[in-house]
Amino acid sequence: MIVNMSQSATDAEIDHVVSRIKECGYQAHVIHGAERTVIGAIGSNGRRSEIEALKAAPGVEDVIEIAHPFKLVSRQLQQRYTVVDVASVKIGGGELVVIAGPCSVESAEQLRETAHAVKSSGANLLRGGAYKPRTSPYDFQGLGIEALRLLRQASKETGLGIVTEVMSETDAETVAEYADMLQVGARNMQNFSLLRKLATLPRPILLKRGPSATVKEWLLAAEYLLAGGNPNVVLCERGIKTFETATRNTLDLAAVALVKELSHLPVVADPSHGTGMRSLIAPMSKAAVAAGADGLLIEVHPCPERALSDGPQSLDLPGFAELMKGLGKPSIRHVEAA
Ligand code: PEP
Ligand code: MN
Repeated sequence: MIVNMSQSATDAEIDHVVSRIKECGYQAHVIHGAERTVIGAIGSNGRRSEIEALKAAPGVEDVIEIAHPFKLVSRQLQQRYTVVDVASVKIGGGELVVIAGPCSVESAEQLRETAHAVKSSGANLLRGGAYKPRTSPYDFQGLGIEALRLLRQASKETGLGIVTEVMSETDAETVAEYADMLQVGARNMQNFSLLRKLATLPRPILLKRGPSATVKEWLLAAEYLLAGGNPNVVLCERGIKTFETATRNTLDLAAVALVKELSHLPVVADPSHGTGMRSLIAPMSKAAVAAGADGLLIEVHPCPERALSDGPQSLDLPGFAELMKGLGKPSIRHVEAA
């Protein structure tokens, strides 16, 4: 439930409501807005009727139910959009953030060449896979720790912050030492023990939507991260499984627009995995921006035909430069709270 304080509520009145919420068995999340303070009573085992009764407390304007099962990620609780800082790049801050790099880190030369090229074309963050979730156990699984070292080196040379996937709780702390942002891959979106672990680490999280996850399930996965103590979460739409087989996945841009209504978290689109087709990256990038995406995740390889993973959807270096030119400097569509 949400307790809306009146505009003139005093600090003492706010403190009183917070302590009543705790006494009733809930966690209290205080959000100071530009005009008023809103306090969320979050949890499942509290004494609800006593929270409703807070309508009568001094400084309280109203007590309302949060309409959705996700609470902390909801725009009902926080209308102001969250801005997530990744190595000083602000995602959700009104400027399009482009995260680019190879699907897998394959060698020092491949990563260095890609990193310098995407940097000079205007990418904001470098992404490369060290631990790869592959459908077949016989496919390239990533260079692991060696790739993490190469990513750090590329960051040193280019100044770009690093985004890379964490596949298991066991690797989480090590990956967090090398990376500026931790990606939860689509297949792990509902790996709740991994989410709980990542919630405790001091790194922002890029949470990909599961291939068969509904928007509600995706936002509830994000709720695990916020409830566990990590507010720095960026959602990533990477396409879902539908009956359509002409594209690798169906990039659900309606979900991008919808999530901007439902949640205050930034959302980025991944047209690379969302389509699986190089020719569709530019049009779907522009469509994602029109839908309100705060950023894009683009796979880039110096020689896609030799890529060890996801070559058909990777742009080559001139292709990425052209994409960046075509995007220009769009402003991000924000949505008024309903
Ligand atoms: C990737 O980002 O390279 C990847 C494996 O993505 P997803 O988890 O969306 O399939
Ligand atoms: Mn990939």
